[in-house]
Amino acid sequence: NLPKIAWIGLGIMGSPMAENLIKAGYTVTGYTLEADKLERLAAAGGTAATSAAEAVTDADVIITMVPASPHVEALAYGPDGILAHARRGALLIDMSSITPQTSIDLAKAAADKGIRVLDAPVSGGEAGAVEAVLSIMAGGEQADFDAARPLLEALGKTIVLCGPHGAGQTVKAANQLIVAVNIQACAEAVVFLEKSGVDLTAALDVLNGGLAGSTVLTRKKDNFTNRDFQPGFRIDLHHKDMGIVTDAARTVGAALPVGTLVAGLVASLRAQGDGGLDHSALLRGVERLSGH
Ligand code: NAD
Repeated sequence: NLPKIAWIGLGIMGSPMAENLIKAGYTVTGYTLEADKLERLAAAGGTAATSAAEAVTDADVIITMVPASPHVEALAYGPDGILAHARRGALLIDMSSITPQTSIDLAKAAADKGIRVLDAPVSGGEAGAVEAVLSIMAGGEQADFDAARPLLEALGKTIVLCGPHGAGQTVKAANQLIVAVNIQACAEAVVFLEKSGVDLTAALDVLNGGLAGSTVLTRKKDNFTNRDFQPGFRIDLHHKDMGIVTDAARTVGAALPVGTLVAGLVASLRAQGDGGLDHSALLRGVERLSGH
């Protein structure tokens, strides 16, 4: 008997992920703010709820995939929210990328209501969500992770319990640091190559075969060559994540000399009105600095 799922947050990531659970045979009731996303869920075989409370009331497992900590807190603690309406014994899996401390606090508050919590943020982008090959980095109790594993296997490929509550978010913060620095390095190489008059497609193909190759370079190659900055992963969200990792690193006394610099470049793009673009738009920032 598969657990009944409530899915809250059907955006770029949440919609294809929820659909993968439906394909795997789960019963999914969803709630999100946009009517068209609810229609999409219903068309895929899910049930659209009219509120978070309605979605979670009967659920065995509640999954949240919303933008940031304030959204998770509003959903968890609000009068229409999860802690007020979920049944005792339910498992809440928050797959949003939020601050580790928010996850730790949520697990404590939920335990008082008999609700178990895992933080389980993901990496792999929209393509990883669609293809169900996400990396899922979890934090929480081993027994809850074991209970969630079959369901997580319908969403991702590399699924690891990283430690106690918040540990998944800490690993996700490190992931976002690596991705941002990697995109920035690729963007600088692209501008350098183009200004040097080298064919970009040929250059990126051969670079990808060597030590400079990366998932970022593979996945973002077309974004770079076509200047296609349709998200994907929005600069606004990466700005949020650079805030999470720089704060967390300061707390533990880890130096991020390059990460802090790239956080500033992400913030600058956002200040220039590019927050809604894909994070491969870091290329735009390098072009501006190069006099384009
Ligand atoms: P998105 O903006 O496309 O989707 C967020 C969804 O949350 C929206 O559909 C919105 O309606 C919903 N939402 C917000 N507040 C809500 C509320 N109170 N009740 C119900 N629904 C609510 O964002 P996304 O790109 O899908 O990202 C979601 C999370 O996943 C973020 O934390 C992001 O950092 C992370 N993430 C994104 C990617 C990516 O490539 N896009 C990859 C890995 C992780």
